[in-house]
Amino acid sequence: MKVIIDEEECLGCETCVELCPEVFKMNEDKGKAEVILPEGGPKECIEEAIDSCAVSCIHWEK
Ligand code: SF4
Repeated sequence: MKVIIDEEECLGCETCVELCPEVFKMNEDKGKAEVILPEGGPKECIEEAIDSCAVSCIHWEK
C-alpha cells in the first residue's frame, strides 16, 4: 500500500502537510501537496490527513 494525492483535486490547503510532515510536503511551484514518503510513513497521521482533506484527494493505492 502506498499513499497518493490526486493533484488535480488538491486545493493546496496544507492541512495534510501540517498533520503529517514526514509524508506530505507542499510543492510551492505547483501550489499543491505532494507525497515525499509513499511507503513506511506513520499510518495514523496518514489516516488523519486522509480524513481531514477537504476534497478527499488523498488515497491508498494497492
Ligand atoms: S489536505 Fe488535501 S487539499 Fe489540502 S493540501 Fe493536502 S491533499 Fe491538498
